[in-house]
Amino acid sequence: MHARVIQALQSIVGPQYVLTEPQDLVCYSFDATWHTGRPDVVVLPAETRQVQEIVRLAAAERIPVTPRGAGTGLAGGAVPVRGGILLSLTRMRRIVDIDTRNLLAVVEPGVVTAELQRQVAREGLFYPPDPASAKVSTIGGNIATGAGGPRCFKYGVTRDYVLGLEVVLASGEVLRTGGKTVKNVTGYDLTRLLVGSEGTLGVITGATLRLIPQPETQRTLLGVFPRLADASAAVGDIVAKGIVPTTLELVDQTALRVVEDYLQAGLPVEAEAVLIIEVDGFAEAVDRQARRVAELCEAHGASAVRVAADAAQAAELWQARRAINPSLTRIRPIKVGEDVTVPPGEIPAFIRRFQYLRERYRDLPMVVYGHAGDGNLHPNVVMDPRRPEERARVEAWLADLARVALDLGGTLTGEHGIGLLKAPFLEWEVGPVGMEVMRAVKRALDPLNILNPGKMALDGPQATEAAPAAEPGPAPTGGGTRG
Ligand SMILES: Cc1cc2nc3c(=O)[nH]c(=O)nc-3n(C[C@H](O)[C@H](O)[C@H](O)COP(=O)(O)OP(=O)(O)OC[C@H]3O[C@@H](n4cnc5c(N)ncnc54)[C@H](O)[C@@H]3O)c2cc1C
Repeated sequence: MHARVIQALQSIVGPQYVLTEPQDLVCYSFDATWHTGRPDVVVLPAETRQVQEIVRLAAAERIPVTPRGAGTGLAGGAVPVRGGILLSLTRMRRIVDIDTRNLLAVVEPGVVTAELQRQVAREGLFYPPDPASAKVSTIGGNIATGAGGPRCFKYGVTRDYVLGLEVVLASGEVLRTGGKTVKNVTGYDLTRLLVGSEGTLGVITGATLRLIPQPETQRTLLGVFPRLADASAAVGDIVAKGIVPTTLELVDQTALRVVEDYLQAGLPVEAEAVLIIEVDGFAEAVDRQARRVAELCEAHGASAVRVAADAAQAAELWQARRAINPSLTRIRPIKVGEDVTVPPGEIPAFIRRFQYLRERYRDLPMVVYGHAGDGNLHPNVVMDPRRPEERARVEAWLADLARVALDLGGTLTGEHGIGLLKAPFLEWEVGPVGMEVMRAVKRALDPLNILNPGKMALDGPQATEAAPAAEPGPAPTGGGTRG
């Protein structure tokens, strides 16, 4: 990058916040996927005005700008594939206001999600979105990806808590959307357009977030299922009976075994699946709901249902779920975490198709776990990106999974976003008209294509080249999902 541009960036944010050393550039060249792309420079602004000046400079010089929070993304969204400026928002981490009267918080984008949850909890309030990366990921990244998490079955995803945004557009202008009210139908819903826009339409520099009161109490249960099919049927029945647990997480046998190898915690590895279920609310209601959930698990063949008596026991029940990520990365360096989502009623069908894929891709170590309550499962494989043949297999597996989800009336991504990982499949879901509308929006807001170029197949048809042909094949008949 030209020295003149580096100097201009230094004068905007101060020389110590402009990084050009190779080791710094490498540190900002990846997220939690296998994708990499080296930026020419990393810039760490401290305020909106600086972001505006950086973006204006980038527009004048036609330099790509890739916004980045904590880099925990699972779609390659924060990887600067075209080089240019990597804009790290982590210095903008002020919680500007926690408004207990109007139940909202005003925050900067670099606030770590768990830190916001902690601060609002002190006021008896609750910010429900809880990606498993909450201790590291940022609110800006959560908004830009539309993050979810285990609690979303009951409480909804990040989108449902964003009342308003402050966004620096590609022109350098500041757009303010929404406001402090829960109800707002003024004009186009630009807030929703920007949530999940993955840094391609603007740089989020501020957010007004809805808060709710802390639930009085909660109860955690673990259902042990000898048969995975029964666990998925139990999920369907709990949902169909109108019970809305806070979380309804499924962990399959392969995941249990991987975690047990790591922790030796005495997990029920003989079971094909466990369900971790949490209910919350007023104490009396919670007791009733917990009893009802336990009955339904037993009715669907659970061999045991454990109910945590206190927070320590609840943490034990969560142990298997929480340890999946570290356990998996002991097998291979990169974990490809999928987040295809199907209508909850299709979960048993999804599980049958997944078993078929497990057979087809026997060479890939594979587990499935995730937010079964809202149909958002996380099939995961682990891989070594240094082995090209393994990478090609994973890409074929991703295409197959995408087809399965779409076949079942689902979606490519429930919470991680499209980024690079799912760009080849986006048109399968939204169709050519959908793609053209998205590209028209992108052109209108970012005519020079400087904001996070190369993502979401927005640059043109070449990014949506067909993935390897996939035949998900018939589901095994007779509920034959054992094995
Ligand atoms: C172990 C682990 C567990 C995870 N669990 C979950 C989970 O349960 N649920 C879930 O939804 N996700 C999960 N994720 C994925 C990831 O944490 C989320 O996608 C998260 O929202 C990313 O936040 P981030 O700050 O790391 O963003 P980054 O990875 O830095 O960026 C993600 C995207 O947002 C854009 N972006 C970031 N900040 C801004 C900004 N201020 N303005 C505009 N665009 C911006 C980037 O350009 C990129 O496209 C998990 C990841 C890991 C590694």
